[in-house]
Amino acid sequence: MEKQARIYVAGHRGMVGSAITRKLHAEGYENILTRTSSELDLRNQAAVANFFAEERPDYVFLAAAKVGGIMANNTYRAEFLYDNLLIESNIIHSAYETGVKKLLFLGSSCIYPKLAPQPLKEEYLLSGYLESTNEPYAIAKITGIKLCEAYRSQYGCNFISAMPTNLYGPNDNYDLQGSHVLPALIRKFHEAKINDQPTVEVWGTGSPRREFLHADDLADACFHLMEHYNDELFVNIGTGEDVTIRELAELVKETVGYEGELRWNTEKPDGTPRKLMDVSRLHSMGWKHSTELRDGIERTYQDFLANEVLYVE
Ligand code: GDP
Repeated sequence: MEKQARIYVAGHRGMVGSAITRKLHAEGYENILTRTSSELDLRNQAAVANFFAEERPDYVFLAAAKVGGIMANNTYRAEFLYDNLLIESNIIHSAYETGVKKLLFLGSSCIYPKLAPQPLKEEYLLSGYLESTNEPYAIAKITGIKLCEAYRSQYGCNFISAMPTNLYGPNDNYDLQGSHVLPALIRKFHEAKINDQPTVEVWGTGSPRREFLHADDLADACFHLMEHYNDELFVNIGTGEDVTIRELAELVKETVGYEGELRWNTEKPDGTPRKLMDVSRLHSMGWKHSTELRDGIERTYQDFLANEVLYVE
């Protein structure tokens, strides 16, 4: 990307979009276009078309999406499907119409079949049934991949896709009903420590395995792909290492310095048993993560302490 290029980061206030924006600033890019959701409703086809026609971005990072943890995905099933289909369709189509040079679409590891072999290789897409708790979100994200492939095939657009594993970092969602597990545990252990609570409730059995990548590492990988990758097949982004939810909970507990007990609520769903990414293609492109989980949790806890008022308002 040329230093003067006009770069639109869709979803710049979210965890992923804000990390990408920080990365672009750090790399010396100054023409970064952003709109808050109240300034531009990405579900509105005409509004998105107008924005692209007026602002003419050269490059697009598509990091805008309706996202959430296992409960949010399972509860707001219609919104997760409808909103995400509209956001990605509107942006991808407008990017084509206005001649965007390159677009990076971000998906998620939940696109893979629930019982796919592990680690998950890119070629396992659409080889089996999806996990039901996040099927609507996964269907929307698979559609995003297929839109990029179709616009490449029919119109020659250089639209690429990347599928990150579970992410964490600054500007994460700390709402206990809607969030993912890592921010939820940081908040729960922190509040239990402050309030001297003897136990903390953790969902499920603790046996599912998850892989976690710091958002700054993801932004770095996205930048790398934007600079070097131009093929149709989407790319997994992760660390290639996973932990059980029980191990994660112990790690967060230790980082926060909480001394009470864990109470496993098995009424809550476990979700998919495992979703470890095969990151060999990404590694063969010369990229590897730099933040290990223990350090990343420590950094994220410090960020939570600094922004607690903002995050839990
Ligand atoms: P998933 O990766 O799509 O399943 O989404 P989550 O990050 O929300 O959940 C991952 C795993 O962590 C599931 O097995 C959850 O049941 C478990 N988990 C344990 N405690 C919590 C919690 O407080 N919040 C969330 N969201 N998940 C939790």
